[in-house]
Amino acid sequence: MTDRTGQCLCGAVKFKATNMADTFSTCYCDACQRWAGGPYNGVSVPTENLEYEGHAHIGVIKTTDFAERAFCKECGSGLWWRLTRGQYVGKTSVPVGLLDDRSGLVLSDEMYSDYKDHTNVRPEGVAQMTSAEAEAVVATFTDGDTK
Ligand SMILES: [Zn+2]
Ligand SMILES: [Zn+2]
Repeated sequence: MTDRTGQCLCGAVKFKATNMADTFSTCYCDACQRWAGGPYNGVSVPTENLEYEGHAHIGVIKTTDFAERAFCKECGSGLWWRLTRGQYVGKTSVPVGLLDDRSGLVLSDEMYSDYKDHTNVRPEGVAQMTSAEAEAVVATFTDGDTK
């Protein structure tokens, strides 16, 4: 268990999580892929251990009879997935990508693994572009500002 911090893309919503699991789960279900734009990597934390800043910027949508998903109203980042019925109520799944520091997190399991398709596989030898290479391209159309 680790204490971690994170934020959405624009920074309007920030959070602190205490005793967050050191494992994360990847889900390939249709809902997660549509929400996250691809496989969803989530880390679980007791909801009571989450403290958010920027509540006015948080939108919550009930996506099924048993779950809700939240997002930043300013930038659209997904903020959490949370069951509202059943045995896992009281836990929140936070997107791994929101965390400021992902060190020590280990993949524990994959859900809806039968939904995994060829786009979810990373073949050996696929072209790689580093952040420096990508930012050099971005700098050519942003007067050097790459963020
Ligand atoms: Zn935001
Ligand atoms: Zn899912």
